Amino acid sequence: MDSAVKNQCCAADFMPVETLRDIQLTRLQKIVRHAYDNVEFFRKRMDDMQVKPDDVKTLTDIQKLPFSKKVDLRDTYPFGLCAVPMSEVVRLHASSGTTGKPIVVAYTKEDLDVWAEVMKRGLAGAGLSKNDIIQIAYGYGLFTGGLGAHCGCEALGATVVPASVGNTQRQVMLMRDFGVNGICCTPSYFLHLIEQAALSGIDMRELPVRVGIFGAEPWSQGMREQLEKGAGIEAFDIYGLSEIIGPGVAIECTEHSGMHVFEDHFYPEIIDPDTGEVLPDGEMGELVLTTLSKYAMPMIRYRTRDLTRIIAEPCKCGRTIRRIDRISARSDDMFIIRGVNVFPSQIESALLTVPGVSANYLIILTTENGMDNIELNVEMSPEVFSDQVKELENLQRKIVRAVESVIGLRIRIKLVAPQTIARSEGKAKRVLDQRQK
Ligand code: ADP
Ligand code: ZN
Repeated sequence: MDSAVKNQCCAADFMPVETLRDIQLTRLQKIVRHAYDNVEFFRKRMDDMQVKPDDVKTLTDIQKLPFSKKVDLRDTYPFGLCAVPMSEVVRLHASSGTTGKPIVVAYTKEDLDVWAEVMKRGLAGAGLSKNDIIQIAYGYGLFTGGLGAHCGCEALGATVVPASVGNTQRQVMLMRDFGVNGICCTPSYFLHLIEQAALSGIDMRELPVRVGIFGAEPWSQGMREQLEKGAGIEAFDIYGLSEIIGPGVAIECTEHSGMHVFEDHFYPEIIDPDTGEVLPDGEMGELVLTTLSKYAMPMIRYRTRDLTRIIAEPCKCGRTIRRIDRISARSDDMFIIRGVNVFPSQIESALLTVPGVSANYLIILTTENGMDNIELNVEMSPEVFSDQVKELENLQRKIVRAVESVIGLRIRIKLVAPQTIARSEGKAKRVLDQRQK
């Protein structure tokens, strides 16, 4: 990486590994002490396991500490995990509630600074700077996406267009009229923006937008290609979750080979989701994160339910902070059909290997004669839509084969006309489960 770009990024991304580990240990000891002293939940869990804050002498001692889970946030709703008095809390957010009742998270002023810092580091790594105009098309409000990206862009010094979600035609107009260079939103929403632009006669490839920061939902390599080609941009995968801070836990650099975790603030581990055993770097499992510098609501060994692996090999960009692989799935999304565990993301990757289909799809689960049935509705691209029946049957067969080769099940495919599957403005809804329970 040339030194001008490196300077613009944060030195913390490039520090010697030993320095990084020292910082992590010091911060870990401090946060564990803070959680133990101020949160009854953590104190009780640690007492039950007969472990004290002083037992954390090395980074691997983290393995002695208890895990925490989403249910713990729900059980202590709303403020049971707060470790500071309310007078120190300057902001509340809630998770988007994809999987049930929302959970609440709290931030001190310093926590917000950490969040803005990691977002800023991520944006800078994606080649954005104070000279850019960045549109935020994540939802503003309780969802962490909008304000998280917003504060990061401001910290970077960029010009922020806080468009939030919705009003798609206006989004496109703003992008064109303001000469927007960077956009932050969910990948599925950006696909929708490209389509809507085309409908109003605007070719997104001709707009100045060159960088897309996409996250909040799983997306495949096929989706990346559709977004990059459709808008003439470079797409960056960004990962985060409300419980840990929001967006900005990890993000791709320009190498696009995994997302660098800002591990001076969020300590990553991978565990076997069934046994809780810590797995070596490189192995797939559930991502567990510990916040090292978040004081309003510290999270110790939080089980994210997101499946990935740690890539420990150095990245070509020179950053010393480790990477995680694309989130291959969130275990919440998994459904079991005829005894087979299936993730929507597996279906998406298989589907998008077939030319002529769009990344707009819906998986519909039903019960027929007492049996689980799965049907995949896929939108055709406008070019394919006008083809002969024979061609369409051919396409259908190709999709059946591609999906079967990945999940091992033959599923029913229904090709539908362009623009007929409902678009989401935030996280796309990929599965409609209508099975009789
Ligand atoms: P929830 O969706 O659980 O209501 P959040 O809005 O905090 O709550 O979303 C966090 C979750 O979104 C993560 O745990 C993960 O499952 C998913 N997610 C976020 N970013 C990505 C990404 N880049 N790739 C895949 N999944 C992501
Ligand atoms: Zn890198």
